[in-house]
Amino acid sequence: MPKRVTLALLVLVAAQSPGLSAQDYRARAVAILKTVPLIDGHNDIPDAIRERGGLDSVDFAVAQPKLMTDIPKLRAGAVGGQFWAAYVPVTTMDSGPHPAVYALEQIDLIKLLCAKYPRDLAMAYSAADVERNFKAGRVSCLIGIEGGHAIENSLGALRMFAALGVRYMTLTHWRSLSWATASTDTARRGLSAFGRDVVHEMNRLGILVDLSHVNDGTMSDALHAAHAPVMFSHSSARALTHHSRDVPDSILRLVPANGGIVMVNFNPGFVSEEVRVYEDSIGPRTRALRAAGADSAAIGDSLTAWQARAPKATLPQVADHIDYIRRVIGVDHVGLGSDFDGITEVPVGLEDVSKFPDLIAELLRRGWSEPDVQKVAGLNALRVLRAAERVASEMRGARH
Ligand SMILES: [Zn+2]
Repeated sequence: MPKRVTLALLVLVAAQSPGLSAQDYRARAVAILKTVPLIDGHNDIPDAIRERGGLDSVDFAVAQPKLMTDIPKLRAGAVGGQFWAAYVPVTTMDSGPHPAVYALEQIDLIKLLCAKYPRDLAMAYSAADVERNFKAGRVSCLIGIEGGHAIENSLGALRMFAALGVRYMTLTHWRSLSWATASTDTARRGLSAFGRDVVHEMNRLGILVDLSHVNDGTMSDALHAAHAPVMFSHSSARALTHHSRDVPDSILRLVPANGGIVMVNFNPGFVSEEVRVYEDSIGPRTRALRAAGADSAAIGDSLTAWQARAPKATLPQVADHIDYIRRVIGVDHVGLGSDFDGITEVPVGLEDVSKFPDLIAELLRRGWSEPDVQKVAGLNALRVLRAAERVASEMRGARH
């Protein structure tokens, strides 16, 4: 019997066997992740490594105390492909190295990191590369720039980032640009005319337009301007957790026609409404203590006591977001975008990259079929990459 059919039967049996243990579901998840590369949309270990080791010591080992990502954990988590964030701090817009230089250094760092572990990691610039690396037993390293300020308003810089192998660019980070508005901004405007030019050029180059971090107006404008599928590399569902970084239903409903993907973020404040409300309470609480005349030591003690009672997000809540997006727009448009090593708190049960199979196991436990699990794990991301490659070659053929 072909392996895939056997697996399908096993999963079917699993779905119908209430007596299966958690370990059984995890074993099924790991078996499925041998058939399809699990692709995560966003991991921030490059900047964590840079903070600790500088640019001369590019190695997972510098990430001490241990962070959420290293080679043994990637292997234990059956990760097949990782979009590493070439994150550019918004402060580079004011001082320090130019954003474009910072981005170049991050891309260099990602390539050095990948080259350091040739038995385990391999660069990938296309869907075909990911599949080839997966067959060879290596984790694909894909590059995503986090923050459109990296191009410094230059389409020439954008084209050169494409030439270096960048496969997505998040249009903004926490701060708005002249051409795109961030989710943290109260302004309602979206993309400017130049912003639409950037989206068009990204489509022509095969760089995915990443709408995590932008405001709803920019999400909508980009979805209407795009010729290729867009992605949300690390955002969850706002209907479940009312955070501006999450995607509202009105935008979710535009995604199927575009063919894009929403890759669910694990950030506790994005997946648990209780945690979001708690996090939002810290600022007002501090201000209230200060207004009541408390000194900084008293404020510190009070916040420590407050934090001891902080709610926790959980793995099933992350699965709830995945389930919700599937229910609203279909299983073809949902994926995983952990934000590991960019987040400081983690859901219980999803502490690091080794835990991905536990999340897949939870979906199986909820009765998900093998083909649906494969889509969320990686097939949807591969489809979006491939579609972007096709649109790019068509647009270049037509000399747009
Ligand atoms: Zn981010």
